[in-house]
Amino acid sequence: MQDKLSLMIPGPTPVPETVLRAISRHTISHRSYEFETIFNRINKKLQWLHQTQSNVISITGSGTAAIEAGIINTLKSGDKVLCGDNGKFGERWVEVAHIYNLDIEVIRSPWGKALDPEAFRIALENDTTKLIKAVILTHSETSTGIINDLSSINHYIKSHGVALSIVDCVTSVGVCDIPIDTWGIDVVCSGSQKGYMMPPGLAFIAMSKNASEAQKRSDLPKFYLDLKYYQKTAIKNSNPFTPAVNLYFALDAALEMMHTEGLESIFKRHKRHSKAIQLAIKTMGLSLYAEEGHESPAVTTVAPIYVDAELVRTIIKERFNILLAGGQGQLNGKVFRIGHLGFICDRDIIATIAALEVTLKTMHPDRIHIGQAVAAAMSALV
Ligand SMILES: *Cc1c(COP(=O)(O)O)cnc(C)c1O
Repeated sequence: MQDKLSLMIPGPTPVPETVLRAISRHTISHRSYEFETIFNRINKKLQWLHQTQSNVISITGSGTAAIEAGIINTLKSGDKVLCGDNGKFGERWVEVAHIYNLDIEVIRSPWGKALDPEAFRIALENDTTKLIKAVILTHSETSTGIINDLSSINHYIKSHGVALSIVDCVTSVGVCDIPIDTWGIDVVCSGSQKGYMMPPGLAFIAMSKNASEAQKRSDLPKFYLDLKYYQKTAIKNSNPFTPAVNLYFALDAALEMMHTEGLESIFKRHKRHSKAIQLAIKTMGLSLYAEEGHESPAVTTVAPIYVDAELVRTIIKERFNILLAGGQGQLNGKVFRIGHLGFICDRDIIATIAALEVTLKTMHPDRIHIGQAVAAAMSALV
């Protein structure tokens, strides 16, 4: 059926009609009073969403551009960095750090396990000569469905006194609580196609005062991603280069919707939905790939025991128009992932679980008792 596809993947996420309509306006000049007004309004709302007094820089690009920008605007060639790696995205930031000749110490956890804050504490405490200039890590590791303990790790970074925190919050901004200023997180990166209820195309970087200080000393090569141009023009409510004008219309509308819902409600909604999905998955005799107690509120990675993950995805897509994500990297073909972030309501959760139940029933009639997983999900929604 046309136009009925339901995106239950961890990005791109569904886009509300209000936001779609905002995009479809005529494009205006980015050097106009009207654009400046929108830009100004957006920046205030971005600060609200990020719980910060600092400016949040928006650039054209996907989430990866934001993290690359965060790294190359605050560090110098040869700087020592700690990289947390427990999944596909953690791996990516190690690669970026390599490309820019940073001196990397990787703190690894096996896929499906959370990063160990103790490992960060020890590495940071041992660094008495303060060589470590930054800790780069992923908050919600979308490949495995793990949420890392950012609060504890950030606490150890603060105690170190010199190292900046550079955090991939692509599937946690607008999903769970990240009090940037209260915790003193230095660089927080995100992308529009995740918690923002927007199409892909914009990336966001929030930077603390310490990060801005480090920026002055940074010498890594950059031009389009050199944030000083964006900071300079932001004062005049403008961009250094042609921005994705229509995506700003979308952002304005999406942030307004988020503001109306309220941060607390947004966080609560994501928590409820992930809980509902977790209960349902277990009821169907499937397992969560994420270590218990560290499940991401944005995405659930299901490590099927008795089913072919790709076949599940094919059937649920063809019969129900519901798109689930496959596994990334070493999990390719071995798991499926359910995204439940952004513009997702209870109905989406119930429909997905019901469709999954029917799908599994057709594959393994004796393992599934129709209705039980839906009942389990609904018990978390009442
Ligand atoms: C989606 C995502 C990104 C960004 O990926 P892009 O394709 O560049 O937008 C980065 N980190 C995490 C954890 C993600 O889920």
